[in-house]
Amino acid sequence: MTQGRYANIIIDISHEKVDRAFQYKIPKELDGKIETGMCVQIPFGAGNRLRNGYVIEVTDKAEFPDEKQKMVAGIVTSGMPVEADAIKLAAWMKENYGSTMIAALKTVLPVKQAMKHKEKKKIIRLLTVEEIRCVLGECIRKHQTAKARVLTELCKEPVLPYELVIGRLHVAAATLKSLQNQGVISIESESYYRNPVKLETAREMGLVLSKEQAEIRDKVLLDFDQGKRKTYLIHGITGSGKTEVYLSLIEGMIKRKKQCIMLIPEIALTYQTLLRFYKRFGDRVSVMNSTLSAGEKFDQWERARKGELDVIIGPRSALFVPFPDLGLIIMDEEHETSYKSETMPRYHTRETAQYLAEMKGASLVLGSATPSLEAYYRAKKGSYELFTLDRRLTGGSLAPVFIVDLRQELKSGNRSIFSRKLQELMEERLQKKEQIMLFLNRRGYAGFVSCRACGYVMKCPHCDVSLSQHMGGKMVCHYCGYETRQPKKCPSCSSPYLSGFKAGTQQIEQQLYKQFPGIRVLRMDGDTTRTKDSYQKILSAFAEGEADVLVGTQMIVKGHDFPNVTLVGVLAADLSLNDNDYRAGERTFQLLTQAAGRAGRGRKPGVAVIQTYRPDHYSIVKAANQNYEEFYEEEILYRELGSYPPAAHMMAVLITASREERGEKLSEQLAALTKDFLKEGKNKVSVIGPAKASIGKINDIYRFVIYYKAFDYGQLTSVKDKIEQYLQSLALKEENVQFDFEPTDSF
Ligand code: ADP
Ligand code: ZN
Ligand code: ZN
Repeated sequence: MTQGRYANIIIDISHEKVDRAFQYKIPKELDGKIETGMCVQIPFGAGNRLRNGYVIEVTDKAEFPDEKQKMVAGIVTSGMPVEADAIKLAAWMKENYGSTMIAALKTVLPVKQAMKHKEKKKIIRLLTVEEIRCVLGECIRKHQTAKARVLTELCKEPVLPYELVIGRLHVAAATLKSLQNQGVISIESESYYRNPVKLETAREMGLVLSKEQAEIRDKVLLDFDQGKRKTYLIHGITGSGKTEVYLSLIEGMIKRKKQCIMLIPEIALTYQTLLRFYKRFGDRVSVMNSTLSAGEKFDQWERARKGELDVIIGPRSALFVPFPDLGLIIMDEEHETSYKSETMPRYHTRETAQYLAEMKGASLVLGSATPSLEAYYRAKKGSYELFTLDRRLTGGSLAPVFIVDLRQELKSGNRSIFSRKLQELMEERLQKKEQIMLFLNRRGYAGFVSCRACGYVMKCPHCDVSLSQHMGGKMVCHYCGYETRQPKKCPSCSSPYLSGFKAGTQQIEQQLYKQFPGIRVLRMDGDTTRTKDSYQKILSAFAEGEADVLVGTQMIVKGHDFPNVTLVGVLAADLSLNDNDYRAGERTFQLLTQAAGRAGRGRKPGVAVIQTYRPDHYSIVKAANQNYEEFYEEEILYRELGSYPPAAHMMAVLITASREERGEKLSEQLAALTKDFLKEGKNKVSVIGPAKASIGKINDIYRFVIYYKAFDYGQLTSVKDKIEQYLQSLALKEENVQFDFEPTDSF
């Protein structure tokens, strides 16, 4: 592979125009030293300024006469060499999702930033559990909540990973210092510990698997040993023991000297889940997440590459951690939308993991309580192997779900946002000191301000969206951050009757204070979770019983378990059905199922109330019955009739421009170009559009969209290639074009 006189190199800047390889001659002194994936210096452009580039191929095939070729100036040693695999993966992503090669490479390559190796530390309990309980009691009396959190965990575990306590329990280093000074704990760093402390030996072996669990483990490992590499889907309700199966599979892989990537959506990377992995695999496991600095991420990559790790846990970017002998990729909560990248290349983790697994000879295990239509469809067709776990192993049954018809409520004169059933159940919980979660499944925001006289809606001057009403007479744009004061009079008709549409989370909070005097409310939505950590802080506060009710958007239905929550209310279940894209039904079903599943996780039984204007809609009915199979049957019929994924494939082309007419013109050109192109062959691609995007302007940039549907994915990528070629010939500056395959959001 390293033989060859020429190197094809791409330049490290993200722009269509340089998204191609340039060929350079390899000088004698570097003969045999240049490899695919290396970072090199090359003279570039008219001025021959030295720049960095990545070698994507070493070859003997000259693209120009020798005398016209420039020479590679040298190897950049400070950057790390990237493996050929990463470049191959990037090329696949570029081809299948549309992006520049550079953007694809930046997605799969490590952050080139070295840092000092950070010491791993451990917190060690110095007192007996009884003594710890005493100190804990004192801390609770003094309202030292952070200390109390650590002590509570120390009652259960003699040793805790320092980074997990700081990062997930949100305890400051100073707090731990103070506990150390009190003689309650000691903080040991690993370098002093040649034999790292095992977190707890008794349960390190894991639980004895149930028959169903063991079957999955044995089948996946047997296939592996027989050289069969497959994709498996575990469909199992929350609490059915999926994570325990993952742990045993990873254990099996470690025995086979293989490494594993464990993908978990960021929002579900909770303290409890992570602790299970730490306890089982000790220092051989590491966590990757968005709060890590570039240097810390680089550190993880290096440890993985050097074979110091067996398992990496993290959100979608953990997929690119370079293990020398990858054996298994696990993707938990496979249906989560956060698995789809929102920037180019807009890759989907499921398919990318499948390609990577094939390339590396690894197996792939997907798991979900509500599998994506894609995954279940493939499982039904036999391209994935399906396993079902349908028993909650901790006992505890699914909560009964009541559907309340909001139209009937209004007819009987109830104008509150809480139905009578919900009010009654809430009163009961408040008396019993049990907790309540109220959930508003609204994407985007409510609370827009309109004129009651003429219907005028206050809009952001930079975006094609309405402004949201906030406390203190402010109006805010949630797309660009624009803020302004609410006017006294309607700008259109001067009427003084401007008011907010009351359905946002803030309004629900207000209503709660009004209707239930003395109630303690925590609110979680895009506004209260702006700052880093605020998400976890709110959840911890709720878990510690600092509020009776947690009100929030879809963020609250994921991740955390609250044993004291015995009532979950969904305030307007059909809000998410109104999204104008083909996934609205699926999303609604998933959200409602998750929401209902929040009630009664502990020993106390729970109930859920779903309020809706469409009590007969199958997404709502099937979610209330917690019947995935029946939901799937209805939903797939609709997808097949409309040729939507997974029955067919879809590509969205998003055209943006700072001047509306330029965007419009380009989108028409592209639609015409592709229609002509499609006439030529035996293509069966339908073209929808061009049209203004459903949000026609964001941040003063105009947006247009064209949709393509086909049964053959390859036909869509050929349309994409055609558009890319055409764009290169135009060399546009103002306009930008992005591709989105199997889009999860409507544009
Ligand atoms: P999931 O990932 O599907 O939500 P978990 O693996 O977290 O399920 O298991 C749910 C609960 O059941 C956990 O408390 C776990 O300790 C327990 N559990 C899992 N497997 C077993 C088993 N084989 N025997 C006893 N308890 C189990
Ligand atoms: Zn008006
Ligand atoms: Zn705006």
